[in-house]
Amino acid sequence: MKLAFFDTKPYDRPSFDKHCAAKGIDIKYFETKLNADTAELAHGYDAVCAFVNDTVNAQVIDKLYELGVKVLALRCAGFNNVDMKHAFGKLHVLRVPAYSPYAVAEHTMALLLTSVRRIHKAYIRSKDFNFSLANFTGFDLHGKTVGVIGTGRIGRVFTDICRGFGMRVLAYDKFPVEGFADGEHVKYVELEELFRESDVISLHCPLTDDTYHLLDAAAFEKCKKGVVLLNTSRGALVDAEALLAAIKSRKVGAACLDVYEEESDLFFEDNSGHIMEDDVLARLISMPNVLVTSHQAFLTEEALENIAETTVSNLVSFFEKGKCPNELCCRYGETHDCKDGKCF
Ligand code: NAD
Repeated sequence: MKLAFFDTKPYDRPSFDKHCAAKGIDIKYFETKLNADTAELAHGYDAVCAFVNDTVNAQVIDKLYELGVKVLALRCAGFNNVDMKHAFGKLHVLRVPAYSPYAVAEHTMALLLTSVRRIHKAYIRSKDFNFSLANFTGFDLHGKTVGVIGTGRIGRVFTDICRGFGMRVLAYDKFPVEGFADGEHVKYVELEELFRESDVISLHCPLTDDTYHLLDAAAFEKCKKGVVLLNTSRGALVDAEALLAAIKSRKVGAACLDVYEEESDLFFEDNSGHIMEDDVLARLISMPNVLVTSHQAFLTEEALENIAETTVSNLVSFFEKGKCPNELCCRYGETHDCKDGKCF
């Protein structure tokens, strides 16, 4: 089986080399992202492997289909970059539903602590032997209320971490998880209440039509003054211009963003020698109370190992047995995990 691997970064190779070699998969790494201009590179391959910022729209799907590619193996959980309805009948789409919820949840807490205790500022100051504490006053997390939107794998691990800090958790999920909330320390509430009550809001739901710009100007209006926003999920959950306005008006006290709506041409790359064309991102990054990491939350050794292992096992399962438990399907006009491998 021949696999074309797009948007390759050096940290992808060791684990994929190991697992592909073990299963006899012939892998070719392309540094370029998958998009309409580069899909042609998949000529002669049985499957393509894509990541979060590859573009798998109708044009790309038609091209891959025309080239005889059978499978799109996503090496991530989210699939908002894939036109799933268009893929029906053309490409089998496999994904890695979970690889390390701990990686993302721990990064989220790292961002929160960095922000509220000004670690990013202190690090730079002490490097310059400036040991002043001016403007470093933070606040205790203990006793604060955190609003967790999306109580799936990552949201639940993040909740556990927050509970360890003695925080009260208000949760919102379109499909609440039975047995998760105890009604006292962890309580499901409607979004309005979560916005009104939370000192910190953390996003852990997928990007869908429902959740696009979930945090917009109207939502920020409903939030507590000084709320800290954490987004390690998907950029377009937050209207970045509305966030900027809410930071300027002091409604939002701090924002920690591992994802950004327009990240696809910027994140994962060294843009330090270029003029930043995105004025909203430039302005956000210039704020002392905004922390940006470039979609880094997943990046742990454990996660990379699990991603490679599951992606390869998905491919082996599909090509050997004709079905894969991690296949996504849109047969009925909605996307769900296909349990029986009978998408087409
Ligand atoms: P999951 O599928 O286990 O959980 C998602 C939860 O969101 C589910 O409980 C679901 O019911 C809920 N949900 C769905 N629609 C909703 C809506 N409209 N409103 C509120 N909740 C809704 O997924 P997960 O593994 O916990 O991952 C969560 C998100 O984290 C992913 O969708 C992905 O976007 C993001 N992610 C980011 C990184 C990173 O490196 N920054 C890595 C992995 C995942």
